[in-house]
Amino acid sequence: MNKVGLKNRLVFSSQHIKDIVMEATKTKAEGATQVATINVKAFGTAAANADLNQLNIQRRKPTTHDVEIEILYCGVCHSDLHTARNEWHGTIYPCVPGHEIVGRIVSVGNAVTKFKIGDHAAVGCMVDSCRECQYCKDGLEQYCETGNVLTYNSPDKFLGGHTFGGYSESITVDEGFVLHVPSNLNLAAAAPLLCAGITTYSPLKYWNASPGKKVGVVGIGGLGHMAVKLAKAMGAEVIVFTTSASKFDDAKRLGANDVILSKDADQMARYAGKLHLVIDCVSAQHDMDLYLSLLRVDGSLVLVGAPEHPLPVAAFSLIPFRRHFAGSTIGGIQETQEMLDFCGKHNIVSDIEMINMQQINEAYDRLLKGDVKYRFVINMASLKNSKLKNQS
Ligand code: NAP
Ligand code: ZN
Ligand code: ZN
Repeated sequence: MNKVGLKNRLVFSSQHIKDIVMEATKTKAEGATQVATINVKAFGTAAANADLNQLNIQRRKPTTHDVEIEILYCGVCHSDLHTARNEWHGTIYPCVPGHEIVGRIVSVGNAVTKFKIGDHAAVGCMVDSCRECQYCKDGLEQYCETGNVLTYNSPDKFLGGHTFGGYSESITVDEGFVLHVPSNLNLAAAAPLLCAGITTYSPLKYWNASPGKKVGVVGIGGLGHMAVKLAKAMGAEVIVFTTSASKFDDAKRLGANDVILSKDADQMARYAGKLHLVIDCVSAQHDMDLYLSLLRVDGSLVLVGAPEHPLPVAAFSLIPFRRHFAGSTIGGIQETQEMLDFCGKHNIVSDIEMINMQQINEAYDRLLKGDVKYRFVINMASLKNSKLKNQS
């Protein structure tokens, strides 16, 4: 799925960087609302086949209900890579990814009540929604009828252009879409909860992972390793399905009751027709029928992984067992806070490898090889302390 190797990707020249800066600046001029802005450093890409590199973007100064967050850490989700490389199509460039954001409040708007300067705060995949449709009223902003505003690659109603994500020094967000991080959790290791955590918590809860239930987790990456920890904490029996024999010991350590090498037919046969729920966290093409065959009657396979291309399913993988083939995306704001509090209570964070912002292209290549245990988190001090290459 890595269609473009690192060597073939464009490395930005000074002119490219200038062009991106100009493009990012232009978004403000096209904006519908007049708001004061600040210039901040970010990391992004100008094209699907280009490396990520440093650029300047604008952030609005807080309006009435906004908080300005100095970003301390940002997780690296496979969705960042899918988007940066336009694998889902519709990426608007320049693209600044990042939606697993934790940081510190540095300024607040006049009407802000949830946060004060100095508080830790977190932002996930959404920064706004219509707030009026039935889904928004029910706390399901992720399914907002008119479309929520994603943290990156969505229209920016304040500045015009599109939103920029957490690979940046700061972000300004309406407090209604900002979360509290339990104080007992390591802040850097809590960052991945904002996407990997909620994306697996929400379907585990909806499909009732609990004592007496057998839950399969397919693909032990950022999402998968969180699914194991969360399902275990919910009391379910957890069976991991991995393509990587090297992850067996880790899967047990993360809480799995059993681990299956999915390439081994004999091992797979042990769970045929046995599972109540399967959470599929795989980022690339794979055989759906293989995993549907694990479900009991009325069992559900829930796709959270979002590979680039369609995944074919045989009718007879579903029909004879009244099986469900479903999908789920992130979670609402209230549920995200609930997930963070659940993680606080159970002392759950992500297993992380900390990187500097400048290592992001190498990190993407390693992500594609499954070479991360189990989430890269960017230490944003590395960006704060750097200079734009074409600046003196
Ligand atoms: P990740 O860290 O790269 O993990 C993906 C895992 O999938 C790998 O560790 C590997 O696990 C497995 N895998 C990779 N290539 C495979 C292949 N060819 N065949 C079988 N298994 C393979 O990615 P992530 O950040 O967890 O994200 C996973 C997917 O979820 C991505 O597509 C991402 O865009 C999507 N996502 C969706 C949502 C949502 O709202 N639904 C939110 C966030 C992310 P093993 O080594 O164990 O096999
Ligand atoms: Zn994500
Ligand atoms: Zn809505």
